[in-house]
Amino acid sequence: MTDAQTKMQFLYALRSKGVTDARVLTAMEKVDRAAFVKGLFSDRAYEDMPLPINCGQTISQPSVVGIMTQALNVQPRDKVLEVGTGSGYQAAILAQLARRVYTVDRHKRLVAEAQAVFDAQDITNITAFAADGSHGLPDQAPFDRILLTAAAEDPPSPLLAQLRVGGIMVLPVGQSDTVQSLIRVTRTDTGFDYDELRQVRFVPLLEGLGQD
Ligand code: SAH
Repeated sequence: MTDAQTKMQFLYALRSKGVTDARVLTAMEKVDRAAFVKGLFSDRAYEDMPLPINCGQTISQPSVVGIMTQALNVQPRDKVLEVGTGSGYQAAILAQLARRVYTVDRHKRLVAEAQAVFDAQDITNITAFAADGSHGLPDQAPFDRILLTAAAEDPPSPLLAQLRVGGIMVLPVGQSDTVQSLIRVTRTDTGFDYDELRQVRFVPLLEGLGQD
């Protein structure tokens, strides 16, 4: 298959799994997932499956990245926080849609590797840190949008506090060893609205920094 055919099939698979937002599809067409998948698995980058990355983590399935990005409804002037940088792929998609993306991971090795890919791909509106993202980034708050790519039992309260009124947070919630629910939290003038989007399976949100 040519590269163009591979990309077309990739976009077709995304659409058939419910990723219909034109801006999200354009962003996913533009960002080269293979750049974020290293070694052995890079020739499978355009299949709709999660793949292993370093530190025992995974790069999410593209259709799940698409569904989450779509649910976040990112606007061009938005400041976005992603918790769980992993490979950096999801952050790179968000960076196509937002003004600035802050992304944090508890593994500094993953942050360094993702940063190298952002540099190589000339993506300049992402700031990546090694940090425990369950505390958010108080210095940069409030955020217009917050996305978690690791599952918490409940939405972490520091993150709810760092969401701007009118802002949206998307995250998987539930126990790590079972099926989790992807939920969307919208901050209103008076509180928070919650809606449940679908079942998903993510690695758990862990406390503190990782070993590497
Ligand atoms: N968004 C990634 C996939 C993330 S996998 C991508 O596009 O490739 C989930 C990531 O969450 C892992 O890299 C894990 O290290 C990270 N993580 C888990 N708990 C965390 C925490 N408390 N703070 C920051 N990152 C965390």
